[in-house]
Amino acid sequence: MFTKILIANRGEIACRVIKTARRLGIKTVAVYSEADAGARHVRLADEAVLIGPAPARESYLVIERIIAAARQTGAQAIHPGYGFLSENEDFCAACEAAGIVFIGPPVAAIHAMGSKSEAKKLMEAARVPLTPGYHGDNQAPDFLRTQADAIGYPVLIKAAAGGGGKGMRLVEQGADFLDALASCQREARASFGSDHVLVEKYITRPRHIEIQVFGDTHGNYVYLFERDCSVQRRHQKVLEEAPAPGMSPERRAAMGQAAVEAARAVGYVGAGTVEFIAQQDGSFYFMEMNTRLQVEHPVTEMITGLDLVEWQLRVAAGEPLPLNQEQLSIHGHALEARIYAEDPAKGFLPATGRLVHLAPPEESAHVRVDTGVEEGDAISPHYDPMIAKLIVWDVNRDRALARMLQALADYRVVGVANNIEFLSRLTACPAFAGADLDTGLIEREKDYLFPAEAEAPREAWLAVALAELLRTQTRADRDAAGHAEPASPWHLQDGWRLNAAPRRRLIFRLGEVQKTVDVEPLGAGAYALVLDGRSSRVSGSLNPRGLLRAELDGLRTSVTVVQAGEKRHVFAHGRAWAFACVDPLHFQSEGSGTEGGLLAPMPGKVIALVATPGARVEKGAPLLILEAMKMEHTITAPSTGTVQAFRFAVGEQVGDGAELVEFVPEAVPA
Ligand code: ADP
Ligand code: ADP
Ligand code: MG
Repeated sequence: MFTKILIANRGEIACRVIKTARRLGIKTVAVYSEADAGARHVRLADEAVLIGPAPARESYLVIERIIAAARQTGAQAIHPGYGFLSENEDFCAACEAAGIVFIGPPVAAIHAMGSKSEAKKLMEAARVPLTPGYHGDNQAPDFLRTQADAIGYPVLIKAAAGGGGKGMRLVEQGADFLDALASCQREARASFGSDHVLVEKYITRPRHIEIQVFGDTHGNYVYLFERDCSVQRRHQKVLEEAPAPGMSPERRAAMGQAAVEAARAVGYVGAGTVEFIAQQDGSFYFMEMNTRLQVEHPVTEMITGLDLVEWQLRVAAGEPLPLNQEQLSIHGHALEARIYAEDPAKGFLPATGRLVHLAPPEESAHVRVDTGVEEGDAISPHYDPMIAKLIVWDVNRDRALARMLQALADYRVVGVANNIEFLSRLTACPAFAGADLDTGLIEREKDYLFPAEAEAPREAWLAVALAELLRTQTRADRDAAGHAEPASPWHLQDGWRLNAAPRRRLIFRLGEVQKTVDVEPLGAGAYALVLDGRSSRVSGSLNPRGLLRAELDGLRTSVTVVQAGEKRHVFAHGRAWAFACVDPLHFQSEGSGTEGGLLAPMPGKVIALVATPGARVEKGAPLLILEAMKMEHTITAPSTGTVQAFRFAVGEQVGDGAELVEFVPEAVPA
């Protein structure tokens, strides 16, 4: 076995490989770009080598730099992870030439499976069932059109070198074929450097079922059963599971055998995945082979109890496969959800930003979190926007679904848009829960998955207000502790002001809805909150991570309220709402309206004057930004009005309660 390996990757997969290597007593070397200098994989590895600037083209994809890093550190083998150079035959060959073991298949196998067309030719010879279509060398547009006509529409045009769901065009009728072909070829040339295409029959309502295979250098092959990856968006996987619902033992053996034949046909060594497209009647066709460890390999690990990275390392070191086919079995059911920094409501648009609060569910025998980031890290625009993979296991699918829902409800991310709520809906959606699977599920269920923006329940409004009160009380207590006169009324944060009723008013905004909460302290940490004309008795405690244990009108509940700038992120029952605190701690006497100045919520430094003095601003418009407690706080307009003047300049320190802005609200027509 190796004593030191280099991992030519980043993010969760680099961390994942390091974990197994460490368990086996193997030293690890990370490589990193300038953007990843502080990344988790760099922190976890025993050694780390800088290989270039942020763009992958100048770092993670530069073969010579990675080989040099391995040489420099004396690594005996390189694990390529997935993506980047993992399926690059030149990289595999360069490792070989440098006398370094490539932890993956031989060059010839990568080459054979690198082109979807060539792979289909080989599979045809190995009698593996193929999706009907044309995968020959003649690329003349009119000829391809004739082939498509013969296959029958709809057809799919695919880039032979494609991957990652890119370079595919669905053609519904002959008249559209040539335009679609030209556009597919343009994208293929730009993304993969080759415009070679193949044409396939488009299978309607298909399932994506893939088989994990393993080969060793002694000619042994096994299959580690299947994964169902039918739930996709833009032909990319979102939720994966093992085993595939509804799979019969006979079908499993047939698909497993076909996958092993595919691997044997190319002299495959190590971990690989043979992807099939399956019809609702169970018939299946070879789609492609991925010659690497797959993103979703953990679901296979959970149902087999094996560590596939350990198997990869053993095989690469020349050992035979640890188990034969008869020794392998399936135990229970596993699901994986890919947590992405993306906005599902905006067409899954990728998002970037800093993870200001990151609280994954607790790991256990049932819950596993594979991630490459920690709280405070950034999701940068340079790489894949995956935040983590959440994997759950239980004895059957229904219980695994329940585990997934709970784990997603416990997963809290603040700072970047993410798909956690979407994944909760997906997991709960009757079609998925009922295993009515096909690759069109997300599109078909969009009414369920993308509901119109629902109002937050009263509980959420009460929770956000209570958390605000408890937080300011804690701060007041802390300030008072260091003060000579702890009993001074100036430390009471209950709205006490000379010549004013003991009332305090909090204002929150959620989307377009703004609500006022009137506060009456009842003593001993309890408050009466008047919201929507109704009074509720609330009390509770708040920990520094935002966990609020509350009693709301006699009902005990646990909610999380995370503060980030003027935003208050409320997490309850698997849902999340981002409230804006319109003017935190803006004390005012009842009926005084919003005239007068806006006050500093806490001591801090003015870091930006956003509004222009004299200009009219809308309600909620940012006026000024204050930095306090290492956070930015935006002071916003309490109503439509005019900023008369700023009382401080950028860089000036302000005291708690200092008037920051002279603001004149616009008269509201009665
Ligand atoms: P898997 O097939 O293992 O489930 P994906 O198809 O999602 O994984 O691809 C795995 C990773 O590899 C992705 O995160 C993506 O970054 C990367 N990847 C794969 N193929 C491509 C490609 N053609 N272009 C860009 N990235 C790719
Ligand atoms: P990639 O290399 O991008 O992963 P694949 O050939 O594996 O490309 O296809 C990706 C996805 O596209 C599949 O998981 C499936 O959802 C869909 N797909 C591929 N081929 C077909 C087909 N012939 N009919 C219908 N859907 C298909
Ligand atoms: Mg694929």
